[in-house]
Amino acid sequence: MIDKHLHFTGSLSPTYVYRKLQESNQAFLDKYSILSPDDLSYTFVSMFGNDYKLNQQKFNEMYSLVQSVTKPKNTNEIYQTYRLATRELALNLARFGISEYTIIAGPDITIDNTYKRYIGMIQGFEDVEKLHKAAKGKICITFIRTQSGELKNYSYKLLSDICKLLQQEPFKSRCVGFDISGYEYPDKNILESNLCVLSEIIEISKTFCLKTTVGLHAGEIITGTTQDELYDEYFVNLSKLQLDNIGHGTYLWANDTKQKILKLFSGHTRFDLCPGSNALLTPIKRIDSNRLDMLNKCGVEYTINRDDPLFFNNWRQR
Ligand SMILES: [Zn+2]
Repeated sequence: MIDKHLHFTGSLSPTYVYRKLQESNQAFLDKYSILSPDDLSYTFVSMFGNDYKLNQQKFNEMYSLVQSVTKPKNTNEIYQTYRLATRELALNLARFGISEYTIIAGPDITIDNTYKRYIGMIQGFEDVEKLHKAAKGKICITFIRTQSGELKNYSYKLLSDICKLLQQEPFKSRCVGFDISGYEYPDKNILESNLCVLSEIIEISKTFCLKTTVGLHAGEIITGTTQDELYDEYFVNLSKLQLDNIGHGTYLWANDTKQKILKLFSGHTRFDLCPGSNALLTPIKRIDSNRLDMLNKCGVEYTINRDDPLFFNNWRQR
């Protein structure tokens, strides 16, 4: 099985996270009577209710909780922490028959720490690939938007340093894409600045002759709101950039009135759909076949992915 859209923190192995919680937040395990790693994803998914907006808050809390116990405490630990975490992540994916995967992971704000983080991850993949011959891990480099929509780990300098890194092995064959993820703040200037960053990434990857794909998380949650006009324009502009992939894109494919815009992505942009996150974090409870038919009818390629299986407990998704 293949998964092209797995976030690093949201795909960590329950065994690994359970051990980290035992080390530094036993209170959480006690509070929810979590007695084994197998209970962990189940407990997370049980915390969600029917209100998708409340679920978004809970999702952010879970993310922060896991990050608080898994992030390296100082720079000396970056390499080893990412190597171990990735090794267990990849072993766990193998357990569920997921052999080819792209892990979405943000760079650090300095190139030195970014180097340690990605080389640690690559080494973690290699550790597992010695045991599981079919396994193949790749990295998608993501710049992350904060709650106010600003990119927290992006600068042109960092981008160009990363591009230099990507000219050499093992980064060249492992870091296969660029992405923008996180909160999509509905503000004209902020959306425009995302377009500028994407143009910069496209431009610089050409300069460095990189084969890296360029995509972003767009229209993940917003559907049929008063911001429609703003988002229509945003998506039309995105289509002109001929991106390789769009994460989620729910705004377009979940709405019958957006087919004209959806068609603009035909032939060049793949949509990476994530039913688990749709069911819990958006007003859409499931992706029915009509929706997939619409993507086909509009000539838009798509894949189905898990997004954050640690929290959605959709490890076994087909
Ligand atoms: Zn995602």
